[in-house]
Amino acid sequence: MHMISLLINGERQQAGNRATFDRLNPLDGSVATRAPAATPADAVAAVEAAARAFPAWAATGPGERRALLTKAAHALEAKAAAFASAMADETGSSGLWAGFNVHLAAGILLEAAALTTQIGGDVIPSDVPGSLSMGVRQAAGVVLGMAPWNAPVILSVRAVAVPLACGNTVVLKGSELCPATHGLVIEALQEAGLPPGVVNFITNAPSDAAAVVHAMIAHPAVKRVNFTGSTRVGKIIAATCAQYLKPVVLELGGKAPLLVLDDADLEAAVNGAAFGSFANSGQICMSTERIIVDSKIADDFVARLAAKATALPLGDPRKGPVVLGSVVDMSTVNRCNALIDDAVAKGARLVCGGKADNTLMAATLLDHVTPQMKIYSEESFGPVKGIVRVSGTEEAIACANDNAYGLSSAVFGRDVARALQVAQRIESGICHINGPTVHDEPQMPFGGVKGSGIGRFGGRAGIDAFTDLRWITVQTTPRHYPF
Ligand code: NAD
Repeated sequence: MHMISLLINGERQQAGNRATFDRLNPLDGSVATRAPAATPADAVAAVEAAARAFPAWAATGPGERRALLTKAAHALEAKAAAFASAMADETGSSGLWAGFNVHLAAGILLEAAALTTQIGGDVIPSDVPGSLSMGVRQAAGVVLGMAPWNAPVILSVRAVAVPLACGNTVVLKGSELCPATHGLVIEALQEAGLPPGVVNFITNAPSDAAAVVHAMIAHPAVKRVNFTGSTRVGKIIAATCAQYLKPVVLELGGKAPLLVLDDADLEAAVNGAAFGSFANSGQICMSTERIIVDSKIADDFVARLAAKATALPLGDPRKGPVVLGSVVDMSTVNRCNALIDDAVAKGARLVCGGKADNTLMAATLLDHVTPQMKIYSEESFGPVKGIVRVSGTEEAIACANDNAYGLSSAVFGRDVARALQVAQRIESGICHINGPTVHDEPQMPFGGVKGSGIGRFGGRAGIDAFTDLRWITVQTTPRHYPF
């Protein structure tokens, strides 16, 4: 069993009232982790520690912040085995997914380290004689980051890395479903030698989430909020941020379409669709959720994809390498089973996989999905994917946009000019031509439109999100006044 602590002002602590909560392994129900159930008072203490640490951290030079973030990247990589074990215990994910998480998260820290010298500004021509006018990017203050369980290393690191690079101090609120995994990220940051209070860590019992989160957003020292999670909770966070006028970056749910046009390289499309659909058992915000195929090539495409999906290894990740491990909990199984029942009852054809009675869910494909079926519009967030057959590119685009979400998307077609025109008309933050919907790199502007959220992480977009843009002038000659 993993035992973890809060981190407040550089000190490992239990909750003020000593309360704890348990995270159970999704496969056997054993206690994976016992974690502190922070109270709102603990959360406020974390924010205040971050506020005290802010002036000195904001005043550090870029070289110092770069060195510490680089060390943190290496400390994180050194924990790869511990991450794989914590992720298998807490969320049932495969070693493959854990390895990818650590690799990309280390890259996010290295990219943030490199950004420390890019937090600049502009000199802006002024009409006032002798006025030197500057737009200057400056650290904002305490940043509250909230990360989910599904890509736990990547998304918790993303919540804090660029904010820290910009000179902010941070409080990370870990997920109730993977407190030990998020705790390992905090350990790596601490081992790198970040000064006390620069990074703080809060875990809470699920029933306390609303109160703990509200207490932190309401605190005047918190100047920026970022949240990665469901659209349902994202709207609650947005409403709370509106109440206190706090800028927020929201990375929410997705229902990524993958379009297979009539001239697609079918082998490439099948490989991209299988990877995007079934990596981490479909529990990725960018997961391919709707496979939209031109009916001219659909029979061939579906047969090849079904063969590939059926061959994907599935099993308990603690016992050996698999592609599909356990899904995170029985509520995912129940949701996916209900989507299968609903689709089949309304005329979909189950091509491979099917319903499960435990958290080991097989790669499942439903063909001939129509708008009347729930799987057409609802996020499965599991390894159950619908295939919609369409005639021509106009129908494919209309189908892609017929959804409340807009995070990632993909278009497969050999005529790249046509594929690019299709990509430009898809309502999503991200679109990959002849590549999978699941693709993330630290330096890219990552984020969605519509129900998938607002704002961008990554690269220079992250600097914009986590700094204040100040207008500062220097009057270099005597100033003329009208009176
Ligand atoms: P979730 O929204 O159910 O939970 C996220 C967190 O919200 C929880 O840890 C909880 O502490 C907090 N919370 C719950 N109720 C709250 C309340 N009333 N007030 C304040 N906070 C509250 O999401 P999840 O199950 O952890 O993650 C899955 C979702 O995240 C999926 O929808 C997925 O698409 C999305 N996601 C998006 C991205 C992205 O980058 N866009 C990445 C990964 C996951």
